Amino acid sequence: MTKLMYLDDAYQYSFESTVTDRRVIDGMCYIALAETFFYPHGGGQPCDFGQINQAEVDDVTLEKGIVWHRIKGSLEMGAHVSCSIDIKRRRALMQQHSGQHLLSALALALYDAHTVGFHIGEDYVTVDLDQRLNHTDVEALQKSVNDHISSRHPIRAFMPSESTLEKLPLRKKPKVADGIRVVEIDTLDFSPCGGLHVSDTLGIQLLKIYDFENHKQGVRLYFSCGEWAIQRYDAYSQTVSDLKKALCVPETGIVQALAQTQSELKALKGAYDACLEQNIQREVDQLIDKHAGIKGLKWVVLSEKSMPIDLVRQKVSKLVEHKDFVVAAVLETDDTYQIILSKSSNIPSTIQMNGLFKKHLAALGVRGGGNEKAAQGGSPKDLPLEAALDTLYEEVMSLYTLESSL
Ligand SMILES: [Zn+2]
Repeated sequence: MTKLMYLDDAYQYSFESTVTDRRVIDGMCYIALAETFFYPHGGGQPCDFGQINQAEVDDVTLEKGIVWHRIKGSLEMGAHVSCSIDIKRRRALMQQHSGQHLLSALALALYDAHTVGFHIGEDYVTVDLDQRLNHTDVEALQKSVNDHISSRHPIRAFMPSESTLEKLPLRKKPKVADGIRVVEIDTLDFSPCGGLHVSDTLGIQLLKIYDFENHKQGVRLYFSCGEWAIQRYDAYSQTVSDLKKALCVPETGIVQALAQTQSELKALKGAYDACLEQNIQREVDQLIDKHAGIKGLKWVVLSEKSMPIDLVRQKVSKLVEHKDFVVAAVLETDDTYQIILSKSSNIPSTIQMNGLFKKHLAALGVRGGGNEKAAQGGSPKDLPLEAALDTLYEEVMSLYTLESSL
């Protein structure tokens, strides 16, 4: 069994110990020490990182009373080792965890909102409450948390006797029956918790709720504490600075400038779409006027580049609205072909787009399909598409000629 020293002192970040066990799983070396201040995953708090001698520790787990430190490298049984914990990470995790307890306690006190879930991670930190809160509620909750942070309430962890435990106003029921550790914030909050905390609320520094959303029957609060809140503020400041430069406005003008830009873009998009529509119509009109057809059949191959597929589809639809057309449209992008086959409604039913697609294109590796009137698919650009369309055309022509001679 490893002596879990972190439970008694959350502020000891360097220590010496002896390797008592080692194992290798999937090529990675895991070692156990006689005692450790490394916190393993548990109680919603991620594990510590750090170093044992020169070897980097990147995962710590607790299994049946033994703390396993995963290291990059190798250490022998019985080795005497010097250990150091990544202080910045540990402090930040303790700040988030203590902040979470305080936030949950005050949400309960102010709104009778119980915490039904929480997440502490480098990606984000959240608390899920079972009551809906509005913007004013969230602001008031955040203010209350920060007022309590400034009040420097002591935070302590202890193992109460069974009789003491029964009298404590625990905020939530413990998950285990015995050996229960309680974390207390100065009579404000008593929670069963195996995690590590700052020694008083001032250690949290600050708590900022930066977003919230409805979640199940209640609300999910996104927040950051201490160092991570400052990092988030730095990132936001950089974004604001970038926006100021890009829009050439002061900070107070960003929202208005964006609204104006959006409105101008919308107007431009409308004009651009109208222009495209006119161009498509003009091209279609020219094709209809100039195409004399061969024995009455009007075969068209459209080769397009850098055009949205919707517009290609629109062009094809406009063509086949007219009689006698069979259209093959090919949209070429950097590395793919998008192919559409379509026909006018008067083209005989023996000329089936899905059948032609399957025989001449799907056989080559073009994925897709359709029905008698239209088929569509896509493929990489390494296919002999031109030759395939030529043979497809020959078949259309011979079917059409056959049908006409009947
Ligand atoms: Zn906790």
